[in-house]
Amino acid sequence: MAVAEFDIPKTMKAWVLDDPDELSFVSKPVPDARLAEVLIRIDAVAICATDLEIISHGAPALIEGELPFNKNFTPGHEFMGTIVDLGPSVDEFAVGDRVAVEIHAGCGRCRRCREGMYTSCHNYGMNYGDHRKGHRANGYTTDGAFTEYAVNHVNTLVRVPDFMSDEEATLIVTAGTAVYGLDVLGGLVAGQSLAVTGAGPIGLLAVAVAKALGAEPVILTDIVEDRLEIGTRLGADLVVNATYESVHDTIFAATNGRGVDFVFECSGAPKAVDEAIKLVNRGGRVCLAAFASEPASVDVRHIVTNNIYLFGIRGEGQSAVRRAAALMAQKKFNASLIHTHTFPLKELPTGLRYAREKLDGAIKVVIKNH
Ligand SMILES: [Zn+2]
Ligand SMILES: [Zn+2]
Repeated sequence: MAVAEFDIPKTMKAWVLDDPDELSFVSKPVPDARLAEVLIRIDAVAICATDLEIISHGAPALIEGELPFNKNFTPGHEFMGTIVDLGPSVDEFAVGDRVAVEIHAGCGRCRRCREGMYTSCHNYGMNYGDHRKGHRANGYTTDGAFTEYAVNHVNTLVRVPDFMSDEEATLIVTAGTAVYGLDVLGGLVAGQSLAVTGAGPIGLLAVAVAKALGAEPVILTDIVEDRLEIGTRLGADLVVNATYESVHDTIFAATNGRGVDFVFECSGAPKAVDEAIKLVNRGGRVCLAAFASEPASVDVRHIVTNNIYLFGIRGEGQSAVRRAAALMAQKKFNASLIHTHTFPLKELPTGLRYAREKLDGAIKVVIKNH
């Protein structure tokens, strides 16, 4: 069998974060794959709301125990590419394989990592100086993907089928977050009702994953008509435009006056949590997946008297990305419906502006290297 050969340069172009909201395009050495790692040529990377947060405010990225500014740090984390070199002992993958990459490798040695909750690693950011506990999270605590090459541990890689475009493959990680959210809500969602509040990338793919897993009805709320329309195309049974309709009344009317079994909160709106707990029926479950900009006031009496469960999720634990990739490889839904714009690496700042200002209906903006 012919082995694909790649010319691996010594240096690569990379965006690095200087002061808040300032990036520069510099030259960096191409990293070496070490034990259990591969070197990946980055073919495409999707811009995430968390990238915008990191570039403006630093957190949740953490480099050498501090905010990531002026540390030669490259952000970007929702990427896919082609394996071009193997580190020692790697036989799980071959040179030439196309892969999508899970963000968090964790440290692999703490209790949470051992439980599969590597996005809640107790050694977050511990990968420098005397704190070398092996933690890795691309674009958070280690260099990310707004560049040409990256190294990754084999435990973060999932194969991309030949028929899937580079752009769609960047969305496997986003779909992984949706799978993880449904996981913490109880996993078996077939025949159960779900409201998804907020039609951003995670919310839209939560609709798609929930329908693929048999939830019914799946109700999507937002205030942007175009996004609700994509939700319908991804399988939502009912969409509610909160600008014109009462979300509460519409959802109760659609569920025999009881409310839904689950809410997946993806809007981060100021009153979203209090509204979400009032959309579920007694004993219902609410998963929070969005960053709210400010602390929220919540009706705790309602939570307690109705035995409501509240969960927060970070990223994509428990191999959720692998399961999301399986659903997409089986064509259970078309994630590329949320991909709206593409820019080359050197135009990253333009791509970031489209994502931040939602210009021209932007949902997922993808940076494409080839
Ligand atoms: Zn992300
Ligand atoms: Zn850990």
